[in-house]
Amino acid sequence: MFYNNYDDVHGEDRWGLVGQVGDPFREERQLDLACAKCQQKPLVIAERNWMATNADHSQRYQIVVACLHCGAVDEFVVNAGREGVNSALKVGKRVPQPTDLRPQAN
Ligand SMILES: [Zn+2]
Repeated sequence: MFYNNYDDVHGEDRWGLVGQVGDPFREERQLDLACAKCQQKPLVIAERNWMATNADHSQRYQIVVACLHCGAVDEFVVNAGREGVNSALKVGKRVPQPTDLRPQAN
């Protein structure tokens, strides 16, 4: 049996080695992007919510981010209709990229 959804599997998944669900936008990671409200960095990923399975079988997630300085929240979508495509931040308008993620603290 082949399972498509590895999201609850810990281990390889968090290192992005599992392919279709290997996006690095995980909770508590920080994005080196300025807050749309106070212009401070960084934004921290507060929530990662599964939305749907795309036609290419990648998994679509809503990512909720919060500013560490003023607490303003924003959101974007990972795998927005297709694997590897992110939507722009609703308020901030920028499209977060994996390269915007700060190195993991641990
Ligand atoms: Zn802010």
